[in-house]
This record gives sequence, structure tokens and C-alpha cells, in this order.
Amino acid sequence: MAEHEISVQGAVNVIENPGVSSQDAVDCSEPPLKKSKTEVEVETEEVPQDEDLEQRLNDILCCSVCLDLPVNLVYQCVNGHLMCAGCFTHVLADARLKDEQSTCPNCRCEISRTQCSRNLAVEKAVSELPSLCQHCACRLPRNVLEHHQRSECPQRISKCGYASIGCLWKGPNREVKGHEKDCEYPGKTGAEVLAAVEESSRTYQSEIRNYQRIIDLLSFEKLTFNDLQLRPYRTDDFITKLYYETSRFTALNQQWVLKARINDSERNPLHSTERHLTYQLLLKSRISNPLAFHFMLLGGPFTDVKVRPEVYRFEFTADRTESPHHLMPLANQGDGNKLLSAKTINVRLLLFQVQK
Ligand SMILES: [Zn+2]
Ligand SMILES: [Zn+2]
Ligand SMILES: [Zn+2]
Ligand SMILES: [Zn+2]
Repeated sequence: MAEHEISVQGAVNVIENPGVSSQDAVDCSEPPLKKSKTEVEVETEEVPQDEDLEQRLNDILCCSVCLDLPVNLVYQCVNGHLMCAGCFTHVLADARLKDEQSTCPNCRCEISRTQCSRNLAVEKAVSELPSLCQHCACRLPRNVLEHHQRSECPQRISKCGYASIGCLWKGPNREVKGHEKDCEYPGKTGAEVLAAVEESSRTYQSEIRNYQRIIDLLSFEKLTFNDLQLRPYRTDDFITKLYYETSRFTALNQQWVLKARINDSERNPLHSTERHLTYQLLLKSRISNPLAFHFMLLGGPFTDVKVRPEVYRFEFTADRTESPHHLMPLANQGDGNKLLSAKTINVRLLLFQVQK
């Protein structure tokens, strides 16, 4: 009971503080006396609609760098400017690369891991703001949305319970029970389902081999990882095309650039609902002897897009300095658009040098 009272008190503080600190911080006059209940009720009638309030809260609570609502941790400079974890890390990393003191992009005060603090109130407030379910479009607070989308939404795409013996049916979760009642797979013979079982075993084995290969690469003598930001650009063709590129970075004593394209094979990616991201590694240093590398792209820190690890190999020579375009395999369909909607695509590139 006592605990409950404390949390209620905390919630009241959260609501009262922003007004007091942002507007009355300079003049230190006493706050006005508490309003009577009737006064408050009259005022709420004049307050604009919920969605309007939500938009205004969005504007207040968003990251001051990317202007998106932070998905997890929120940091603030000593003057209270908010930054999402991704932007905060990026600002610090940029400063380190340029060998400069990192500063708040808003007020230019010094920032660092120790000078900045988390802002728990903003983190909690953002988690209470509603967002849309990507399957059924219902509005739910962000802190329960992921659970809803993963395991509660009646519209989430689910497989038939007999998928592992070959049934390919997929559909909205609320139709699964009905399908399974009529599904023909439980009635099939062992011989009939053998092919499907063998196929799934093959897929599983190849995944195991892939992970084993990654484990082997991790014991290479020369390996490194870089957290990179792919920024969007447009080609200067007649019909301009979107592409992504990182700034130059150093890894394993060489200079590199990473480029990425969306739906490479299609003339107009807007005509398709599926998004494939392919990427290419470009060596920018001059080399005299061939150098072979394995490389792999993963989602960067603080991104919620899951990338399936896929290792590629390329031998760079003096005149072959660009790897082919490789697929960046996304674990979830729909994450392609999530990548495109962000201002930059944050990735982590792992490089393994093959020793002769
Ligand atoms: Zn941000
Ligand atoms: Zn600041
Ligand atoms: Zn839903
Ligand atoms: Zn079925």
C-alpha cells in the first residue's frame, strides 16, 4: 500500500514539474495557489482534443537531434536538452573521431557519459504515449505495444500448427483455429510428410553451419567492428534514385566506405511493398597486394531492426576495390520500411581479415 502511494506521488510530480521548470525557471516567484476543483474542470473543457495534446507532447519529448520519440533510453545535457540513446552515442562518437570535445547540439555545452544523465520521467512518459499496432492499427501505449504485436494481436500473421510437417498456410491469428480444424496435414502418412521434415532439418543444419562459421571467424587474429551511419542521398540520374552511404572510416589499417541500395533489381522501388536492402563494401586505400576479408552486417546498437547474420567474403585488389552488392537479410518483414523511415540507418560492420 505504501509503495502504491509513493508511485502516485511520483506521477503527480512528473506532470507538475515540466511546466514549473520550463516556464518559471528564470523568475523564481512562488507558484500560484492551487486552483479549486471547479476551476480545473472548466479549463479541461477548453483544452484541445487528445490527439492534439499527443502531438504537443511528441514535440516536447522528442529527441532534439533526430526529432523522433526515443524508443528506449533518454539522455539530457546539463541544460535539459533531450537526446535518444542512438543520437547521444553518435554525437559522442563523432566528436571522438574529430578529436573534439563533444557538445550538446542545442546549446553547445559540454556533454559526455558522465556529464549527462538519463531522464527517467521522459522515458516513462514516452512509454505511455500511444502508437499504432502495425497489424490491426489499434492505438496502444508504447510499453505494451511490442507484447501486443508479438503475442496478442488477433491480426498478427501466424502459421498453421502443422507447419513443421509441411502445411504452408499463414493468416491472421484469429483464423488459425478454424484452419487447423480443416487442415489436411494431420491425416497424411509419414511418407507424405517426410520431404517437409527433411527440408526443415536441412534449413536448420545450414543455420547451424552459418553460426559455426561466425564462431570460427571470431577467433581470427585480425578482426574489428565499426558502428556506422548510412545516410540517404539521391543519384543525379534523370530519374533520381535513393542510395545510402557512410562517411569514410578506418578499419584494420584501411580506409573504407559502405554503400547501400534499396530494391536494387527494380526500376522503381515504390512499386513494390517489399523492401530489400543490399550493401557494398568499398576499399578507399591504395593497396599493392590483394587483401581478402570476410564481412558481416548487423543492426547497430539501439536499433530495434533485427538483421540475420550472413557472412560474405571478397578479395580486394589494386583494381577490384568494390565488393558486389550483398543482401542485408532482415529478420522481420516490414523492418525494411522501418529502416527507410529513420533519418539514418545504423549498422555495425564486422570485418575479418583473412591471413595468408
Ligand atoms: Zn535521436
Ligand atoms: Zn543542451
Ligand atoms: Zn494489433
Ligand atoms: Zn494447416
